[in-house]
Amino acid sequence: MSRVVVAGGAGFLGSHLCDRLVSRGDSVVCLDNLSTGSRENVAHLLGHDRFRLLVTDVSEKVDLGDDDAVDAVCNLASPASPPAYLARPLDTLAVGSEGTRRLLELSRAHGARFLMASTSEVYGDPEVHPQVESYRGNVDPTGPRSVYDEAKRFAESLTMAMYRSHAVDVGIARIFNTYGPRLSPGDGRVVSNFIVQALRGEPLTVYGDGSQTRSLCYVDDEITGLLALLDSSLVGPVNIGNPDERSMLDLARFVLEATGSPSEIAFRPLPADDPTRRCPDITVARHELGWEPTIGLQEGIARTIEYFAGTVEAP
Ligand code: UDP
Repeated sequence: MSRVVVAGGAGFLGSHLCDRLVSRGDSVVCLDNLSTGSRENVAHLLGHDRFRLLVTDVSEKVDLGDDDAVDAVCNLASPASPPAYLARPLDTLAVGSEGTRRLLELSRAHGARFLMASTSEVYGDPEVHPQVESYRGNVDPTGPRSVYDEAKRFAESLTMAMYRSHAVDVGIARIFNTYGPRLSPGDGRVVSNFIVQALRGEPLTVYGDGSQTRSLCYVDDEITGLLALLDSSLVGPVNIGNPDERSMLDLARFVLEATGSPSEIAFRPLPADDPTRRCPDITVARHELGWEPTIGLQEGIARTIEYFAGTVEAP
């Protein structure tokens, strides 16, 4: 049994990670400022004697309020949806830099393993396809998305500096698009948008001509991959994602069929710097972690629709 600090533990991915850690017998200290995460995401864990929620901003301070051992620190603290980070540009840069530094210091002080939740966005609009970890990316450092992309790139750099200078035991995951229950209906990411729109009978908003691609990983698979990295001694970076690549127009049609919705498809302007394609090469994860996704889009989308059907009002 370990004591694990999960920063961003009340967010979409963070709350699923807390669930899995608690259910396998670990103790969890969840740090979250609830800016994009929510108390509801962890409400079912609040009475558990191996779970503690501290509402705090890791960009400002990291203070657990005790001197008990810490075995691992997982850094999932950051807005992750483009509309969310574009609305909080300075906070996003602060949590990737100051927040990551404070959490790395916590790891160093306790000799704890540090898991950095980085992102496929470090590849920007990639010229190499599918994306291998050795690809250095194509990010516009002054574009609107840079607040997220560069914050995560800086966080990776900080993580490696603490590994090289202070021998902190680190692992870096590059997370590709992930979906599933607890995405917030107003979050703005593509899967939640399409499913909520389909269930409400509203038009599905496809940005641009919908030819841009993403590769979608179901949340349970993603968490299994992150745990495999946490439990290993791999430094990485390692891509954790599902290589099943789809165009966004195909995804909209897929959601319409899966929901049986009469909604139409409505084309909207493409956001600035929207990457044209994205697909992980997961050779490293397969070989080094023995991990690969197991839940296909059909099943994952069906489970996600079931979740949203319970939260979204039909027309
Ligand atoms: N997208 C879309 N309609 C929406 C929301 C997103 O067509 O209602 C597109 C978006 O332009 C991008 C892709 O879906 O090409 C994935 O967007 P998301 O915000 O989920 O994540 P990203 O991969 O861009 O960080």
